[in-house]
This record gives sequence, structure tokens and C-alpha cells, in this order.
Amino acid sequence: MTLIKAVRGTRDLLPPETELWNRVEATARRVFARYNFGEIRTPIFEDTQLFARGVGEETDIVSKEMYTWEDRERFDVQSLVNAWTNVQINDRGFVIEGAIPYVLREVEKFGVRLILGRRNPEKPEFVAFGAKVTREAIEALSRAKQAIQTKRILPFSPDADYLRRFGPGLRLVVPAGLPAEDVDRGEVEIEEFPGQFSKSVQSLTLRPENTAGVVRAYIEHKLGETGLLQKLYYIGPQFRRERPQKGRYRQFWQIGAEVIGPPSAGSESPLRDAEVLEMLASFLDELGITGWKLVLNSVGSSTDRPRYIAALREALKDKAPQMCGDCQRRAETNPLRVLDCKVPEDQPIIETLPRIADYLDEESKAHFAAVLAALDACGVQYEVNPRLVRGLDYYTRTTFEFTHGGLGAQNALLGGGRYDGLSEMLGGPKAPGIGFAMGLDRLILTLQNRRADEAPGAGQFALADAYIAPLSDTQNAAALELARELRRAGLRVELGDGAFRLKKSFEIGNKVARAIVLLGEDEQRSGILTIKSFATGEQTKIPRGELAQALR
Ligand code: ATP
Ligand code: MG
Repeated sequence: MTLIKAVRGTRDLLPPETELWNRVEATARRVFARYNFGEIRTPIFEDTQLFARGVGEETDIVSKEMYTWEDRERFDVQSLVNAWTNVQINDRGFVIEGAIPYVLREVEKFGVRLILGRRNPEKPEFVAFGAKVTREAIEALSRAKQAIQTKRILPFSPDADYLRRFGPGLRLVVPAGLPAEDVDRGEVEIEEFPGQFSKSVQSLTLRPENTAGVVRAYIEHKLGETGLLQKLYYIGPQFRRERPQKGRYRQFWQIGAEVIGPPSAGSESPLRDAEVLEMLASFLDELGITGWKLVLNSVGSSTDRPRYIAALREALKDKAPQMCGDCQRRAETNPLRVLDCKVPEDQPIIETLPRIADYLDEESKAHFAAVLAALDACGVQYEVNPRLVRGLDYYTRTTFEFTHGGLGAQNALLGGGRYDGLSEMLGGPKAPGIGFAMGLDRLILTLQNRRADEAPGAGQFALADAYIAPLSDTQNAAALELARELRRAGLRVELGDGAFRLKKSFEIGNKVARAIVLLGEDEQRSGILTIKSFATGEQTKIPRGELAQALR
């Protein structure tokens, strides 16, 4: 049998590695709370339109990386269960009312082959016969009917087209064991199956990023009407159909945050940008990640950008033909993306292209200068890179990345920026905002690299405080009770089994815990337990009431 494996680009996270994940997530929650952020959890899938409009049709994400499917008409499983309920079965045959083609197709699976008869002019019924309608087949059918009704397990999932041909208003009588020759062959007319389908077909997409979802929620729940800044963070999986490699997966995790609100709440202020960047610096410092680099740029306002893009388009007329295929396409569809190109041969050409900084209006220039001044004031180091544009269409003004040298080709730990027009693009009110998304997988890789250097052996299982070994099956229940008592006292406890030999209990205990507690008949009766510390080899007898204290 071929083994089923995790899908390409996805992976399992196992303990003890998940402890590190939990620690990073807990640190994020703690740090963000100090900046007065609250958590938002949006659905993992959304209407495809949200990303098409919010992220941009021409971005890599939307044009080639999304997991999208048509959420088709669904049939109501209950209606199929009901169809079976209408099958009356006895040892002389069975009678089907409504849903005839569905049930007929199904009963073949139970060895019942039928030949349909013609309508009997005297009676309002069809009759069908089958040489194979035996007692055994009828019994099997009866059991199937019961399973379907109680467990709602259907023998097969018919498609919507098939189900539409359900025939209500008909009655089909199938007597057992009559010879097929007696049947006057004919066709059963089948009427339309009424209703029971959800009609809407919707295109859905697994979220490739979370900002669009947060802004959708901001609009949907009218958060702007509070008049206050909304400071929201999220932690969760995102999905992109990219070529998997180290630090790049098809399901990956992001920690992100957004500051968004009406302009009157100060959402446009450069102080917001600087505060978010300072929070990120503090977060990375608190995690003990050193050697990160903050690179930032301004991509201008929605009025600066068209002027810059026009200049870029003009310059690319000559230069694009010498560039990579992607760039040739981008030069047509989305020239800004050319700056994002990672192909080494294209870099010298990109260097010669016009710079966005020369196209910023006074307001954008002043905004960016104020961001930098605030960063200087609080001592956050940065580098301005006039070529930095981000992979999403919605960014305006400040855009940034934090990179880390230890990550190799996938060196971006996180990216973000301002998205002053996004809410309007999604049909919402004016709600400028700024946010970031951090790749949790890459953050963990960085921490693991660092730990391997600094603390070999880090990331191993923590040992339990105690391993409880019942000495026979008779003590199993009492052992569980003892474990419960110790766990309630806050200890980390592993429970053995009375079926193990003493030697085996010691072997397992030594691997998973710091001490072993023996619980035999004597111990159970006297309430005095024997414990042995694996570290010192010391064996002692302790009254049950003092056990938790002794194991700490
Ligand atoms: P990259 O240039 O590395 O593809 P990006 O510009 O596509 O990154 P964003 O959309 O800004 O990335 O997402 C923010 C962060 O999410 C990235 O900096 C990165 O750490 C992480 N990230 C993005 N795509 C992946 C992926 N496929 N696997 C793991 N992490 C990812
Ligand atoms: Mg990418």
C-alpha cells in the first residue's frame, strides 16, 4: 500500500520543537500587549475577490500562488438519508418511494440487480424484478439502510447533476426472487428533484496573507465608528503555492499586526510607523535575535505612484527586453514589481532605473523624514533602500523589511508597510493603516541556528517531575488517582502501567522523568510511597501527603 504523506510544502511540527513555537508566540503576545494590541482571528478562507481586490490581480500571490476553488452547489446529506428512510424492506422484497434512481443505483452495491418494469395500468406503481433479488441481498440492504439512517454514512456521494434526477412522486415495487423473464421491459420516467441544493457557487481562497482579511473585518464590523485606532495582531497559517525550499513552504505561519483607523484617530501619523518599527525591534531583541537589519523606503502616496510608474514604464521600454521573462511581463502589467526581481543578472539594470525618492511630493517626503527622525530618537537602527518595494499592491508611503543574514536566500524575516487606500479599495471608509507580517517559520529557523551555536542540546524534551509506576494492574486505578493529585499540585507527571515489569518501568522512567514513584500493594495500603531520584540514585520513602513537595 502506498503511504500517505504530508502534502508537498506542508509539514508537521512536533514536540519538542513546538515548545519553541509556543515560546515565540507567547513572547509576541506579551510584547504586543505592552503596546496595547488585541488579537484578531479571521477565517482561514475568504471570498477570492477579497484577495484579487485587496492584494492585487497582478501580484505574484494572486496571479500564481493562491489555493482557490469553486465552492459548488452542495447537496443536503439529510435528503439522501431521507431517501433511504423511504425504502420499505421486508423479506418479500422492497418498495421505494421517491429518490428512485438514486436508491436503484445504490442497491446494486448490495448485489441487487434490477430490471425495471413498465407502469401497470391498473396500479399507480412501477414494478421491477431482478433474478438476484435474493433473501441475502434483501438482508444486506436492510442492514445498509440502518447504518445509513443511524450513522449517516452514504454508500457513495453522488454529484449534483445525478441528484437532480431524483424522482419523487413515484413508487417502485421490487418483489424478491421472481425471474427476470417475467418483466415487461420499459423506462421509468423520472421527475425533477425539488430543491435541497444550496444554489450559490462561490470562489473561495485559502488566505495567502492576513491584512486583507483584517481590513475586511474592520469594515464589516464598522470598527472605524469607534473613532479610535484599532491595534490588532494575528498569529496563524497562510497558504501560497510556491516552490517549497528551506524557509519557504506552502503552508507557513505568520505573526502580524495592523494599526488602522479613521484619520482623525491619528492613523496617518508617521509616529504610528515609527512605533510599529520600534515594537518589532523590541520583539526581536526580546527573543534574543541579534543581527537583524531593518531596511525601509517610501513608495509614495497614491498620487506620487502613477507619476513614478509612468517614468518607470518609459525607462523599461528599452531595458525590459534584456531582462528576465518575469520582468518583461511585469514591465507591461505591473512595472513596480520589476524592482522586486531577485534574478542576479537583472540587478545592474535595475540600478539604472528611476528612483521613487525623486518622485515623492512634499507631503510624502515630510512623512518619511518624520518616520526616520522618530526612529533616530529612539535609537532603532535602519537602512534606507530606495529600491525596496513590496510584493503587494496595497502599500503606500512607508514600506519595510527586516532581514537576517542567517537565513540564506530566504532572508526576509518580515515585511510590511502602510496601506492608506486599502479600506477604500475594499469598499470601506477612509482608514489609513500600517502593519507587518512576520514569517514565523523563518523566525524559528533563525532561533534554531542560533541555539545550535550557543547551547548545544537545547530544544530537547523537558523531563517530567515524576514517573508513576503501578506495580501491577490492580494498582492502575490508584495510580491514576495519584497522578491526578500530583498534577493538580502543578507537577508534570507521566503515568506507567501495571502490566510493565519493574525493569521496564525503570527504563522508561529514566528516559522521561527525573524520579520514579513506585505504587504497589504495600504503598497503596500504607500511604507511604517509594521514590527514586534518577539524578542521585537515592531511594526514599515518603508519606503521600508530602509527595508533591518532595518531587518538586
Ligand atoms: P519573499 O520575498 O521571501 O517571498 P514575500 O514578500 O512574499 O517574501 P510577504 O508577503 O511580505 O513575503 O510575507 C511576510 C513574511 O512572511 C516574509 O517576510 C516571510 O518571512 C514570510 N513568508 C512569505 N512567504 C513564505 C513562505 N512561502 N514560506 C515561509 N515564510 C514565508
Ligand atoms: Mg513571496
